[in-house]
Amino acid sequence: SGSASMARYSMATVSSTSDPARRLAAIRSQIAAAAIQAERPSDSITLVAVSKTQPAAAIAALADLGQRDFGENYLQEAIGKIQSLADRSPRLVWHFIGQLQSNKTRPVAEHFDWVHTVDRYKIAERLSQQRSPHAPPLQVCLQVKLGDEATKAGVTPAELPALLRAVAALPRLQIRGLMALPPAERDENAQRHWFAELRQLLVTCRQEFPGLDTLSMGMSADLTAAILEGSTLIRVGTALFGERLQSPS
Ligand SMILES: *Cc1c(COP(=O)(O)O)cnc(C)c1O
Repeated sequence: SGSASMARYSMATVSSTSDPARRLAAIRSQIAAAAIQAERPSDSITLVAVSKTQPAAAIAALADLGQRDFGENYLQEAIGKIQSLADRSPRLVWHFIGQLQSNKTRPVAEHFDWVHTVDRYKIAERLSQQRSPHAPPLQVCLQVKLGDEATKAGVTPAELPALLRAVAALPRLQIRGLMALPPAERDENAQRHWFAELRQLLVTCRQEFPGLDTLSMGMSADLTAAILEGSTLIRVGTALFGERLQSPS
């Protein structure tokens, strides 16, 4: 009958669109719940969808649901996606969150709005030189190394003040705050311990640079702890897109 085929039709429509929509709604409500617990407005937290290894179509599907900010780690993969989605309105905001080599700064300066992973002056200087004078300043966070994991990048807390002063003087960058990828912890209190350390470092930095307003911290597994400790920008991949199958090298 007509109503049976209508029911089948809408089931098919729902199952083809429900995953991104359901995941995005779930993350938004997790952000809202953490914000209430932290007594903060939920619009003080920007959700960056980490789209590394995901095709442009998956990014477009989230953008259709109102997601604006996307994070990428791998330059070559990112540039193609940024170009193929460049005509979207409203325009998407691109965050570079991968490790930056100094010989690869130019495409970052040319194609991204934000860089979260500046941990050396040389990188910052090149980004500033390569940023077009016609574009808005590149928005920058300094990546801080918390804990002492050999594989993690970042400036040490002791070296942070000197790097901050030097980067703040560069003309084509706007320094916004701090980013960290702390050691993975399963326990929420242990997660909060690391995020509290980054928050405290930002408090200290703000004494000299009161315009700093960004704490880039929190991922799929620890975003609630990060928001409870003052995160203003969370970077979420697997919880939005599902497990990553491969990662390009
Ligand atoms: C991949 C990545 C993320 C997202 O991690 P998920 O656990 O998938 O949410 C966040 N930040 C950085 C720097 C990443 O490389």
